[in-house]
This record gives sequence, C-alpha cells and structure tokens, in this order.
Amino acid sequence: MERHGRALGTAAGALALTALATACGAGGGATPTGSPTAGAVPVVAPSSAATPTGSVDPTAMSTDPALWSKWGLKPMRPSPAPPADKPIKLTRTGKVPVFRSVPTDQKVVFITLDDGAEKDPRFVAMMRDLRVPFTMFLMNDTIKDDYGYFKPLQALGNSIQNHTLHHPAMSTVSAARQREEVCGDQKVITTEYGVAPFLFRPPYGDGAYSSTLNSSVQACGPRAIVYWKETMQITGLQYQTGDRKLQDGDIILAHFRGPSELKGETMTAMFVNLLKRIQEQGFTVARLDDYIRKP
Ligand SMILES: [Zn+2]
Repeated sequence: MERHGRALGTAAGALALTALATACGAGGGATPTGSPTAGAVPVVAPSSAATPTGSVDPTAMSTDPALWSKWGLKPMRPSPAPPADKPIKLTRTGKVPVFRSVPTDQKVVFITLDDGAEKDPRFVAMMRDLRVPFTMFLMNDTIKDDYGYFKPLQALGNSIQNHTLHHPAMSTVSAARQREEVCGDQKVITTEYGVAPFLFRPPYGDGAYSSTLNSSVQACGPRAIVYWKETMQITGLQYQTGDRKLQDGDIILAHFRGPSELKGETMTAMFVNLLKRIQEQGFTVARLDDYIRKP
C-alpha cells in the first residue's frame, strides 16, 4: 500500500483522486442513516437549520432539551447560518494555505477530533442524540482495526480528513516519506469513506508551515493544512494565548481518546466537558466545512 502511495504522489495521482472525489461527491458525501433515536419525535429545527429549499437539515444540532439533559447538558445555541461568502476559499492548484482559526464575527468555534484510537459506541449514541458538528482527522494506524466505527459519525454530516498513515513528526522525515504518509492516508480514507479529504493536519502540528510539507500535501490532494488554537484536555482547554479565552472562529483540537489516555475518564465525559467550556464562554459550535469554499 505504501508503495502504491508513493506512485500516487504525482500530478497524475492528484488527478485520479480528484476524479474519485467527483465521482463519489455527487450525494454530498453524508447521507444520514437511520433515525437518531428510535421512536423519538423529530425535533423542529431552528430556521437557521433550514436549507435554501426550505427542507430541514437533518445534520443540524438537536434543540430537544431532553436529549441534552440525558448527557448532563443544556441545549447549545443553534449554529448560525453559515456565511454565503465563505471566509476560507481553497484553490485547486498552488501552495496550500495553513489556518488555525476561521475569520468570522459569529460567536462560533469549530471542533476537530484527531487520530481515532478510541471507538466508544456511547460517543456515537451521544452524537446521534445531539448532532454537534465536528471534523475528523483520522490516522490509519489507529483506525484500520475498525474503519466502520467512523461511518455513523460521517453520516451525521461530519467530514473525514487526512492525518497520515503512521503519525510521524513530519519535519523529521524525508519529502518522499511525507508523501507516502499523506498520499497513503488519502487513498485509505477515499477508499473506506467514499470522499477524498480536502484538508490535512500534520501530527503534533509539526512542520505545518514548512515548504517541504506544503509540497507534499499538494502532491496528495488536500488543499489546506489545518492547525488549531486550543487543545482539549480532560476537563479543560489549553490555550495558546495568555488571555485564556476562546475567540470567534477558533479551531479546537480534541482526540478520540478513552480511559487509558484520560486518567479513567470516558470519551463522552471529555466531550461533555468540552461543550461546557464552550457554552460557558457564550459560544456555540459550527461546522468547519460550512465556512470553507472547496476547491
Ligand atoms: Zn494526531
């Protein structure tokens, strides 16, 4: 597979991936399967959740207080309608941009979930109840034992993006190895989930701004590198700025982690804490994809 990945690290490979993306992208990539909660009466979505055609968006966050209460939470403010003019515009060719927040004056933040080691069924149940939007950056070594786990999360409208095959610190490996890592994960995710990633996140954020990594990413298909502003720990956020406050458009890094990495806490407990930290600062969560014009 890695040898194949290297062969894909060419313009021809990028074209092939583009073709795949086009072929698989017709349905929008995210068709919710099954009802979120068996027997539940569909909640009336806020007007901002309505699509231009007037139909209700089944991926919008739940507004049912009972479902939030089930997880120890109060309902989050509905995500505002995303801007028609996307603040981040990706191009098909050339250098890929690096961003760690989204230019917006809406009081929203964006959640990203990395790696994929923890596969807690209760997290899927929680997301089916609450439909909080997030973006996944999945790394093959941690997902290959169960690609299927992430499919119901994808079906809720959450996109799956590239995070390498083996999680090396990219600045410590050769350009050829970088391409194996990025092109390899690109191929796996496209094959397993039917949609080619358009975003890449380097492990540890390492090398995000290097021209070598930029070239490697360009060669494999993703059209932006996504860094972050805050990191979610177990109960609290770690900030990169001294004011220790969320700002409009911040991208938050969290992980698929379980008790072995969270000092006994579960993925769902961590996620509840994350949502509380966001709520208590007056923010709500929006979907990163809705703020990006795809190439
Ligand atoms: Zn990672």
